[in-house]
Amino acid sequence: MPSPAVVAPPLPVSIMAIAAHPDDIEFWCAGTLIQAIAAGASARLLLVTSGDKGSSDPAAISTVISRQREAEALAAADLLGIADVKFLRYPDGEVENTHALRGDLVYWIRQWRPAVLFTHDPEHPLPAYLSHRDHRTVGRAALDAVYPLARDRLSFPEHEAAGLKPHAVGDVWLFASSVADSFVDINASLDQKIAARLKHTSQTSDPAALRESWMTRANEIGAAFGVPAEAFTVLRHH
Ligand SMILES: [Zn+2]
Repeated sequence: MPSPAVVAPPLPVSIMAIAAHPDDIEFWCAGTLIQAIAAGASARLLLVTSGDKGSSDPAAISTVISRQREAEALAAADLLGIADVKFLRYPDGEVENTHALRGDLVYWIRQWRPAVLFTHDPEHPLPAYLSHRDHRTVGRAALDAVYPLARDRLSFPEHEAAGLKPHAVGDVWLFASSVADSFVDINASLDQKIAARLKHTSQTSDPAALRESWMTRANEIGAAFGVPAEAFTVLRHH
């Protein structure tokens, strides 16, 4: 395993992020995406669930929550400069690594053809034990989709019939990883990352406290390097 190091964001390439919930990318990788986009990368986001369990309001209804959270995700993506967002609308908290989910992930990988893919670390999640099962499941399904399914034309051959070609993803950047080896200095993008997170108003009770805790967290992640950071395990293609 390489020793932990500060690395540059992926520049300027086609990026795709696959996340379980509407606010996951803000939490784990938005600071890095902002810098990549500023340097000319394009980034697209595939959200597996619309976070329909994300409310403690006793009157809340899942269909209403998911509609609100999708609107928040679009507003946040707009602020981040994300070019496209697609919602797969699997049930929050109940995602399984099924043929159907893998087919959806492969479809969008073949459609968007990313050089670099961001997703959850399924094998060494952070936190190690009480991690969200959707995070682990989505990360695992995303890696299954990258290799070998999206690459091989005879996997999901209906895509070829629909005009899509197979696609080999390059590097994979795993976030929410307990064995992260690659740290991106997000000093230049931390304010914008937090501003994007604050677009998720249904998930925000105290914006000032959130801003404070997110600045503290970024500084803790990058403490070894003296910078606020996001952390990744990067699977290099070569
Ligand atoms: Zn999540």
